[in-house]
Amino acid sequence: MKVTELEHPSHPNHILMLKSSDTPYKCDGCKELGFGPCFECEDCNFHLHEECALTSKSSYHPLFRRCEFIFHEETYGGRYCDACGKDVLGFVYQCTHDNAHDLHPCCLKLQPKIINDGFVLHLSDKVPSKCLKCNSREISRGITGWSYVSSCGKFCYHVACVKDLVLENWRNGYFDGDNNNGSAQTSNLALMRIASPSNEVARRKGRLGSKAIKFWRIAKMVLKLIISSIFGDPTSGIAIIVESLVSQY
Ligand SMILES: [Zn+2]
Ligand SMILES: [Zn+2]
Ligand SMILES: [Zn+2]
Ligand SMILES: [Zn+2]
Ligand SMILES: [Zn+2]
Repeated sequence: MKVTELEHPSHPNHILMLKSSDTPYKCDGCKELGFGPCFECEDCNFHLHEECALTSKSSYHPLFRRCEFIFHEETYGGRYCDACGKDVLGFVYQCTHDNAHDLHPCCLKLQPKIINDGFVLHLSDKVPSKCLKCNSREISRGITGWSYVSSCGKFCYHVACVKDLVLENWRNGYFDGDNNNGSAQTSNLALMRIASPSNEVARRKGRLGSKAIKFWRIAKMVLKLIISSIFGDPTSGIAIIVESLVSQY
């Protein structure tokens, strides 16, 4: 049976209820952004990702075959998540090795494979090609992070970059549901920038060749799949972003 209400030690005085949130929230467990279903105390504006509310004492991950990950409510000393490269500021799974790996609860639960209409994306810690958003193999110096990569190897997006894209659009007002205001236009510009430099070059030359158009059409489809996979059932806010991304090419 699905858990719909919960007592959690991080919020001892109230019961948390499973809600599907239409707007993004900041998870009070891992401090990362969240969308869609979460455990909430409405009175206190307290939220937990499902993954942060329903943790297990220890866990494993196929990309770290030798590691046993132990759940901690907090850790110390400037740690970052091996999957998304973002800081660990709260709930985390950490392996027992000396030079430990860290994973946010949501990152630990990322789907290893996304399959849609015969098109397959794999979660991978290696990148066969550059990420189509940041045009780099690393998310920051020395950190590769995890990516979703198509079977053909041509389409690759860092989990970190997809998270950032959604966050950026949230900050720019895309979730207000009003597309005619100035902030939404800025946001449109931000979305345009996800076109890679190769796309920029093509644009400066005049127009995109039909091959490039086809490539970017598939790239958008890939991005859409990853966004819905990371953030769950598309909420209205996410649907707006995805639609605007897809309609641009
Ligand atoms: Zn969380
Ligand atoms: Zn409360
Ligand atoms: Zn380890
Ligand atoms: Zn992470
Ligand atoms: Zn990237």
